[in-house]
Amino acid sequence: MKPVRNAEIIAVGTELLLGEIVDTNSAFLAAELAGLGIDVYWSLRVGDNASRLSLALGQALGRSELVVLTGGLGPTDDDLTRETIAAVVGEEPSVDPDLERDLREFFRGRNRPMPERNLKQAWLIPSAEALANPNGTAPGWFVGLDHGGTRKYVVALPGPPRELAPMWRNEVVPRLGSGQGLYRRTFRTTGIGESDVADLLGELMDGANPSVATYAKRDGVHVRVAAKADTVQAAGQLAAPAEQRVRDLLGDAVWGMDEDELPDLISRALAAAGKTIASAEGPGGGQLQEALAGAAGAEGTFRGGVLAWTAQAMGMLGMPRSAELGVSGGRLAALMADAVRETFTADYGLATFTPGHTGGSAGSAGVNEVFIALASPQGPVVRRIELPRSDAGWRRERIMIAALHLAWSQLRQSIAC
Ligand code: AMP
Ligand code: MG
Repeated sequence: MKPVRNAEIIAVGTELLLGEIVDTNSAFLAAELAGLGIDVYWSLRVGDNASRLSLALGQALGRSELVVLTGGLGPTDDDLTRETIAAVVGEEPSVDPDLERDLREFFRGRNRPMPERNLKQAWLIPSAEALANPNGTAPGWFVGLDHGGTRKYVVALPGPPRELAPMWRNEVVPRLGSGQGLYRRTFRTTGIGESDVADLLGELMDGANPSVATYAKRDGVHVRVAAKADTVQAAGQLAAPAEQRVRDLLGDAVWGMDEDELPDLISRALAAAGKTIASAEGPGGGQLQEALAGAAGAEGTFRGGVLAWTAQAMGMLGMPRSAELGVSGGRLAALMADAVRETFTADYGLATFTPGHTGGSAGSAGVNEVFIALASPQGPVVRRIELPRSDAGWRRERIMIAALHLAWSQLRQSIAC
């Protein structure tokens, strides 16, 4: 088939419109299509309603070369995607003997009788090819049709993300052929706000190809340089001058590239140097520990963590119960970092501490000063941050990210990686 240039996503399901589930399939498909160089101009959500779904599909076919539907392939009466595609294409669905055999086998393999209503999952229309689903009962459809003199395609995939993602990659992408070449680089920054980044980049951000765009993310502002051309290589050449300019302008604000994540960078740097880290969290809910433990290679680099928000937990670290009395918050964070480093016999100790935090209830009102410390054989480094009073979950995440930034900024200096 000729490569498609643009696509439209339709996520089907009333639960999406009620806010009961989050439409992660559309995000997944949008990112995948962008990665293939296929433009997405429209993405919508429709409930389990035949006439509205049919209206949406008809409109989509009028303006997009490829329409990707997710959801509504289940066996029940409210799963209407197959019926609707058949009606819009003007074909009659019938049970495909091969699909029926596979379906019956699927149930036999699980020692369950097949409910007869599942038989509609073996339907096919003449213009549709079945897309194998090794993780569920609903095969997908790949439909090619002539619409107003143009060749168009409709792809239907099941709703469960663990079924959809492998089907997309193994069944759909190979059928789509190669689209345009897309080149993308993402600079991950910290320490400057999105509008300051935009000021810094100036007119670089006005270009369309290559394009330079900023995104405020939880770990800092991301700057993406992208270009399109016939091949990825040509797109890379087109992007090169803008990429270099962005690199020069952002300088030290850049802490990582592309898919880099702070915990992975930290763990990789530690592994390269044969070092380890441990954490103690005063104000957190264990996020720092979770982040460090979830990093690639953490088994070898993360020695353990303590949720040290009560006097008892401080005691386990060998800290005096009265530690909060008499020393400054920064000093206390440094003591915690050192204590957790010793407790776990790690090379580095990372600690967060909020003065006045007594533990227990989430979001103790009035807290807006947080101390973060990294202890190492070279001595402690302490940072003080101020956080506006806001919801506890948001604040905990900010503290965790600030702690990871402190650890990474020190490790990248002291460890050659
Ligand atoms: P369906 O194929 O419509 O029967 O959907 C089956 C299940 O897949 C739903 O109950 C959800 O758990 C999940 N699901 C459906 N649509 C989406 C979507 N757009 N994003 C994420 N999950 C979804
Ligand atoms: Mg559904």
